[in-house]
Amino acid sequence: MERIKAFRGSDLRCKGWRQEALLRMLENVLENGENQKELIVYAALGKAARNWSSYHAIVDCLKNLNDDETLVIQSGKPIGIFKTHPFAPIIIMANCNLVGKWATSEHFYDLQEKGLIIWGGLTAAAWQYIGSQGVIQGTYEIFSTIARMHFNGSLAGRFILTAGLGGMGGAQPLAGVMANAAILCVEVNEARIDKRIEVGYLQRKTADVNQALSWIDEAREKGESVSVGLLGNAAEIYPELVKRGITPDIVTDQTSAHDLMYGYIPAGYSLDDVKRVREQEPEKLEADARSSIAREVEAMLEFKRRGSIVFDNGNNIRTQAFQHGVQDAFTIDIFTEAFLRPLFCRAIGPFRWVALSGDPNDIHTIDRYILEEFAENEIATNWIRLANQYVPFEGLPARIGWFGHGERTKLARAVNQMVSEGKLSGPIAFSRDHLDAGAMAHPNIMTERMKDGSDAIADWPLLNAMLNCSSMADLVTIHSGGGGYAGYMTSAGVTIVADGSAEADMRLKHTLDNDTSIGVLRYADAGYEEALDEVNKKGIRRVVT
Ligand code: NAD
Repeated sequence: MERIKAFRGSDLRCKGWRQEALLRMLENVLENGENQKELIVYAALGKAARNWSSYHAIVDCLKNLNDDETLVIQSGKPIGIFKTHPFAPIIIMANCNLVGKWATSEHFYDLQEKGLIIWGGLTAAAWQYIGSQGVIQGTYEIFSTIARMHFNGSLAGRFILTAGLGGMGGAQPLAGVMANAAILCVEVNEARIDKRIEVGYLQRKTADVNQALSWIDEAREKGESVSVGLLGNAAEIYPELVKRGITPDIVTDQTSAHDLMYGYIPAGYSLDDVKRVREQEPEKLEADARSSIAREVEAMLEFKRRGSIVFDNGNNIRTQAFQHGVQDAFTIDIFTEAFLRPLFCRAIGPFRWVALSGDPNDIHTIDRYILEEFAENEIATNWIRLANQYVPFEGLPARIGWFGHGERTKLARAVNQMVSEGKLSGPIAFSRDHLDAGAMAHPNIMTERMKDGSDAIADWPLLNAMLNCSSMADLVTIHSGGGGYAGYMTSAGVTIVADGSAEADMRLKHTLDNDTSIGVLRYADAGYEEALDEVNKKGIRRVVT
């Protein structure tokens, strides 16, 4: 079968731009994904559709869908078209949601085997993935916050150790270079290293740990940035660095440690070994993966004792190690609570937009608008300048930008106006990561140690999704965790299309205002001062009981 790429240009294959936009977003996640043949986009098993027949059925539905109809998708499979009205979403989805007691990885794998469910990742099944760029600003903001908190504002001459160069982890080397650091990324799959070099996210590659360290040292001495991909297994390399007495300044990991069957590669295993053992002795694979993770986390804890800043970057690595008996795994910080929560309290999070025509100039035009109209917003303007300099486009040209309440609406409505005036070559799709203010409950990532103890309450993302439907968004989705994330998370996603119409202006205004308002209210409800301040400053209507 021919490789799928997102359709470009101004011709429509559907009955309107809303449907065409969502079809291009679906094609785009596959174009950017890690394993198109299996429909896998990222995060080990995060898929765009249940299977190929579901994919083709979705394409067919989108091509024939009228403006007053809604397509309903369950775990990547289209199940029906419903007559609604022109202000209803074009698509609603629920992916991978299991009833509490059954939300375990065992049930998930069993149901996946039977073809009844998929893990949709956050943005894979929701067709919002924009390549590694989707997390790059988040990673950059984490590094910059650490620089401010611990290194007098600069990472020049500093050494970051991490692992995993997959769909999301692949953003780390570029984010490290943007933050002026020397970053070493351990990756067990050479093809993943090559892919990051090819797309311009990674500079150097070696399988020799001495060579890797000498490149890092050289850059540190000169105060220059460098990114090095080291072919190796993190469960072996991290303890080896401990043994050598090397203490990086910052340590994390972004392997798919959340998934012991399809994600994390145990020490001593080749990629072929993993496939074979998974088929023949799945329990052995799980046990070996967990004990390797425990070794890696023990090394991370030793780095921490020696003074490194160590954090979990959202892959459940501490949970896996803890289950293997690493008692103090949770003394490692989670990145959200440690570095990003003050931003989420103000609903400042990973907003993104995609140029549906495929013309990169549209993104550059929007960049210029942001630099002019948001000149006082240091986070946004600093980022847009850096992104222009460093971040290559993957698939349909796209941009991520951490904007908050009111700002997202202002930007999106201005862009919609530009589309209507012909200043852009086509419509723009706006979405955001599910890991955003009110949109995710995950007690070991997003909502760890909430001030009021509300970590595990999933009402918030569910309300967020229903509110987005009521606010006329074009696509609304509810996800829960699959694989090793089963039982750990629930999240909501949203996409709205700026096609230049007055209806789009209304959809953008209501959806974006409400999406960020409920995000702020989630944190205000938990008692965070920053959120309460935002409620007052921005006039968000909070009911006090
Ligand atoms: P991915 O499956 O595309 O890539 C994981 C990479 O890790 C692969 O390239 C794999 O070869 C490598 N790897 C596995 N075991 C290894 C080992 N022992 N040593 C070295 N390399 C190893 O996954 P991804 O999309 O890059 O996501 C990585 C993790 O980050 C997932 O757990 C995902 O859920 C999580 N995630 C976090 C955030 C966030 O905001 N912090 C966002 C997205 C994803």
